[in-house]
Amino acid sequence: MARLFIALDFDGTITRRDTLHVIVERFGTRGLWAQLEPLLRSGEITIEEAMEREFASVRATPEEVLQVVLDEAGVRPGFGELVDWARSEDHRLAVLSNGFRRVIDAVLASAGLAHLPVSSHDAEFGADGCRLVWAERGVRCEHCERHCKRHDLHGMWEGEELVYVGDGISDRCVAPLADTIFARAGLAEYLAGEDVPFVPFDDFHDVLDHLRGPVASAA
Ligand SMILES: [Mg+2]
Ligand SMILES: [Zn+2]
Repeated sequence: MARLFIALDFDGTITRRDTLHVIVERFGTRGLWAQLEPLLRSGEITIEEAMEREFASVRATPEEVLQVVLDEAGVRPGFGELVDWARSEDHRLAVLSNGFRRVIDAVLASAGLAHLPVSSHDAEFGADGCRLVWAERGVRCEHCERHCKRHDLHGMWEGEELVYVGDGISDRCVAPLADTIFARAGLAEYLAGEDVPFVPFDDFHDVLDHLRGPVASAA
């Protein structure tokens, strides 16, 4: 079997729920996103500005944030098995996220997976509000005109056969580069509409079964 690079989104893909939604829902200002969305849609503010305003309303200590995230957005079943399998087969695996490093690290550490490579943004939580720390993603992507995950992928991918696993809008531009795409939720709907082939998944047992399949038949 060819060596694989397995790139995974974090929120709603590795985790059962989107940690950003969990944090805003618990600690943010109710209804704020509804006010920001028209400005976002009309182009008055960027997605980054909308997120900065939304998270400025999140007043909680890092400890409070991580406790709620660990309670409500744990790892989707089978992820540890996928990581173990990848390591035993010498495939590489990395997390490409539009979420926050300290949240990702806490969730992965709680699952015993603190060693995975992660590229993401970060956030500084505090009782006075939360400040976002954007990752350096070079120039805007020539395909989607945003600071997109393609930049992070190209920094890590060494030309192996590419597998991408995702669920959302931030995965749309990067996922079609993969030889095999696993998709759920909004990403699955988007790819179906674009006639891009993908494998649907609910948890990582589905992903692992599919990736192992060709090995067994080729042996
Ligand atoms: Mg996601
Ligand atoms: Zn892009």
